[in-house]
Amino acid sequence: MQKIVTLKPFTLITPTATISAQVHGGRAKCLQRLIRLDLPVPTTVALSFDTVHQIAAGHMPDKDSILSAFGDSPLLSVRPSSEDPDWGGPGAILNIGMNSSRHAAMVDSHGEAAATALYLRFIQSYAVHIARLDPDMFDLPPEPTAAALEHALFAYTEETGEDFPQSPAKQLGEVLRSMARAWEGTTARLLRQAKGAPADAGLGLVVQQMALGVGQAESGSGVIQFVDAATGQPQITGRYLSQSQGRDALTGATGAIYLTKDPRGPSLEELSPGFFEQLKAHGETCRRELREEMQIEFTKESGVLRVIDAVRLPRSSRAALRIAVSLANDNIIPHEEAVLRIEPRALSELLHPQIDPTAARDVIARGIAASPGAATGKVVFTSAVAQACASRDEACILVRRETAPEDIRGMHAASGVLTERGGQTSHAAVIARGIGVPCVVGTNSITISQSKKTLKLDDGRTLNEGDLITLDGATGEVLAGAVEMLEPALDEMFQTLLGWADEARDIGVRANADTPAEARMARNFAAEGIGLARTEHMFYEDDRLTVMREMIFADSHEDRQSTLDQLLPMQRADFVELFEIMSGLPVCIRLFDPPLHEFLPSEREDMRDLAESLDLPIAAVTARADQLSEFNPMLGMRGVRLGITVPEIYDMQARAIFEATIEASRSGDPVVPEIMIPLVSAKREVEIVKTRIDAVAAAVRVETGVDFDYRLGVMVETPRACLRADEIASHSAFLSFGTNDLTQMTYGLSRDDAGRFMSEYVNQGVYREDPFHVLDTDGVGELLSIGAERGRLVDPDITLSICGEHGGNSESIAFCRAAGFDYVSCSPFRVPVARLAAAHLALKELAE
Ligand code: PEP
Ligand code: MG
Repeated sequence: MQKIVTLKPFTLITPTATISAQVHGGRAKCLQRLIRLDLPVPTTVALSFDTVHQIAAGHMPDKDSILSAFGDSPLLSVRPSSEDPDWGGPGAILNIGMNSSRHAAMVDSHGEAAATALYLRFIQSYAVHIARLDPDMFDLPPEPTAAALEHALFAYTEETGEDFPQSPAKQLGEVLRSMARAWEGTTARLLRQAKGAPADAGLGLVVQQMALGVGQAESGSGVIQFVDAATGQPQITGRYLSQSQGRDALTGATGAIYLTKDPRGPSLEELSPGFFEQLKAHGETCRRELREEMQIEFTKESGVLRVIDAVRLPRSSRAALRIAVSLANDNIIPHEEAVLRIEPRALSELLHPQIDPTAARDVIARGIAASPGAATGKVVFTSAVAQACASRDEACILVRRETAPEDIRGMHAASGVLTERGGQTSHAAVIARGIGVPCVVGTNSITISQSKKTLKLDDGRTLNEGDLITLDGATGEVLAGAVEMLEPALDEMFQTLLGWADEARDIGVRANADTPAEARMARNFAAEGIGLARTEHMFYEDDRLTVMREMIFADSHEDRQSTLDQLLPMQRADFVELFEIMSGLPVCIRLFDPPLHEFLPSEREDMRDLAESLDLPIAAVTARADQLSEFNPMLGMRGVRLGITVPEIYDMQARAIFEATIEASRSGDPVVPEIMIPLVSAKREVEIVKTRIDAVAAAVRVETGVDFDYRLGVMVETPRACLRADEIASHSAFLSFGTNDLTQMTYGLSRDDAGRFMSEYVNQGVYREDPFHVLDTDGVGELLSIGAERGRLVDPDITLSICGEHGGNSESIAFCRAAGFDYVSCSPFRVPVARLAAAHLALKELAE
């Protein structure tokens, strides 16, 4: 017969008791640590997740046995203890055990006012939170008089038809049941899941002897922390309030005093210097021994200090980073642990731009500042449109009345989120903070019509889908149009942490950068070079666009050459600037990639301008545009196909690169440019282009009398190039996987149109994730592995990298690292995230 083991439903927390965060929750474990440190913690027992789950299901443990841990006439508090304190839980209930006889006894021991105040508070919180009565009926009176007490007891009886429970066991049982059930409710579950809790996360409860904070001698309670929660700078903050309990001192109550000496008013440091010193010493002990910045709740009962709770200080990402670095600087934790304590995605919050304080602001609405950073984008009203914008690389602000779980993908795609409703803990706020997207919620002055796709402002103005707005997630302001932004401050702490990350990581991180501004940003973020410079962006500038169009219209080789001769010095200057900014770090320049017709005007007005500048009839321009148009331009005449059929373009680019190499090497560190051929699918393409580029190099060497090196490689972004990587590698110094096109071609899925149905696909579980955001390690990954393996067969030392949008994302970095790639290349802003993510992977592997 199976033996039934009945576990004790609660555990008295002692230094040696078996308590764990996974069984009893983080608060219970933390209290045990405080007890081990000999901090004056009142008697506490912990109820396990399982016990609380049983309570919610109607199986109450023996309350008298719990009460027996606290002596004859216990007065108790109950607090939630979830595995991760960030997952929250029901609010604490204090003063359980208060009843009429206890009140009478306390009138003698603590004075009538204190005793009545305690009893009133308990009746109020029990009535509102446990009996769930109308809060308005139980407002605390201004003075704790006998009449007020009588009224509260009467109101309870009136509302429930029963007398206020007098038995401590009954009170405790009801509190435990109510808290246990609250945790299992749907709202609470969704909220904690939004913070990363698993669906079946458990709740523990801690029952603790009250340390009263009221009494005839100086008594009170307070909360202290030692660093600023927003910045992480050392600074003692908190409040102390005489004759108070719990977190009363923080609620703005009159009479709350500062902790340290302060010109604005009295302080605990002056009121009770010895007590304050003791408190500081406990704070230091916690920091050293718990290896964390804590927020400590304390009471003073007739002069005696009690620590009733300590939680890991809730903090912004900026503060988290500073705290981790300063703990490591003080040798409390090793550098590696500081690195591991910062989630890579949290860094992106620190990297957000802010609105330039000197910029003009047209404030059109104000809401609650829910997630930091500032963002400008087009107003969109649905997540599907936000995703479509993201796939076109257009910044958008997702505007919703409130968000729901199905909006998460749209929130990821948007640059900012604005909601009409909600507060700091609303779905929008919680998710936006989690993913580091600037967010303003509770903007009551706007009225959103999802059906009309309009946003009505207080002043009568109406914004439509597509209008540009700016969100300031730091102040909660919504501004019209685009506003000047400041680049984020990368302070010393940030650099220090990333320096430690660099020591730990074992895969390179470069940036995709096309412009000098992006290259500078890449350097600022300590990218180890440029992994992809898309040269076509350089032709979109006004002065070049016209020459480019003339080149497209050229009928003869001579005409084409003469327009390219005009573009040559411009390209050379572009490359010199990139090489100079990168001062000797590798720069990988991709030869011209897009279809030519992208450079032709599509509007009639622009056609006329072009016809004028070419001195041609409009009909000739339209005819040429028609001639160049393709059914599937992304699978058509682009990349190396253009390089082979219109070779003058690559010749010009190669010459510009080599001449720039000579020029930049003259004034700075020697440059070894990397030249990358896009959209290769056959070995012969590489051979033909390589022959021409080698010839250009030879010509430049002869003309200038200067020698230089360069590396020619292939962008592997077609499935065939992966499969034939061995023969392609024989002509390539490197292979860089372009996972944007490779994903498109592997799935046969247009990267420009996928946004239209991607949500549906992910919601229905057809794809686990949008493969353009998260690398499909199964399918696309298999092609990467095949490509890498076959490339290495021919040249074991061939440089391997990834340069699609996936390059900055942790999962792809893990994949590339495991496949032995040399580096990943991602947009400059993701470089710090990638550096940290790569360090996490290396450190976690070491720890295994
Ligand atoms: C790619 O295809 O992965 C890539 C990086 O190139 P582009 O996005 O310019 O096509
Ligand atoms: Mg590509």
